[in-house]
Amino acid sequence: MDFYIMTLFPEMVMQGLSASILGRAIERGHIYARAVNIRDYTTDKHKKVDDYTYGGGAGMLMQAQPVYDAYLAVEKMIEEKCAPEHKPCAKRRVIYVTPQGKTFSQEMARELAGEENLIFLCGHYEGVDERVLEEIVTDYVSIGDYVLTGGELPAMVMVDAIARLVPGVLHNDESAATESFNNDLLEYPQYSRPEIWHDKRVPEILLSGDHAKVDEWRLEQSIEKTKRLRPDLYEKWKARR
Ligand code: SAM
Repeated sequence: MDFYIMTLFPEMVMQGLSASILGRAIERGHIYARAVNIRDYTTDKHKKVDDYTYGGGAGMLMQAQPVYDAYLAVEKMIEEKCAPEHKPCAKRRVIYVTPQGKTFSQEMARELAGEENLIFLCGHYEGVDERVLEEIVTDYVSIGDYVLTGGELPAMVMVDAIARLVPGVLHNDESAATESFNNDLLEYPQYSRPEIWHDKRVPEILLSGDHAKVDEWRLEQSIEKTKRLRPDLYEKWKARR
């Protein structure tokens, strides 16, 4: 799966994505990630990408031209990378990360993980000229009801959550199958060595070797934990049974 991130801070994005599990997935070719510097596409001779907003108000706005030309360049990159037998490439999803969008969730991550490629647009300053958003954006997505200085962290959050669902990205022992939000339940408590730490003992059942009993205990714990920490999710789970 291929990720294209349109941003004014490509180093920030690529540094964030090249560490740990995602870095390994990129190296092994399970995913491809490319940050595209919007500033490279401005026609302004001073390399400016922002200007004052019409009608007044504080702050600067990212202009339509550099964003649109960066998008056209990404389209071209995708076409070139598409295998000839797949042409024309799958339809494009262009995600504008914005506090005004639909809130990102594990369910959305699962849905987006089915795409061949995703394009993210990271805003900065006061945001982006509405006209270019109308022309290129297919999805408006927020990572929560708060305002950040730029879209780079939200895009990285989303790429991380989506990429780890792509086959091959996680090892078997890092499986996403039993994790929180799968089946609307939070994950059960987990323990590692030593058996006793600060006078706290690992639950006996986990040392029993009885896998059926362990599974049963884990499900009970998941239900109890979800009820206690996320009653809203617990109600959703109960309604689905
Ligand atoms: N003026 C905008 C508004 O009121 O909706 C906020 C602009 S914000 C300072 C700059 C950029 O950060 C946005 O264009 C967006 O790309 C990104 N951003 C900020 N908060 C975000 C959030 N909660 N989720 C996703 N992106 C966010």
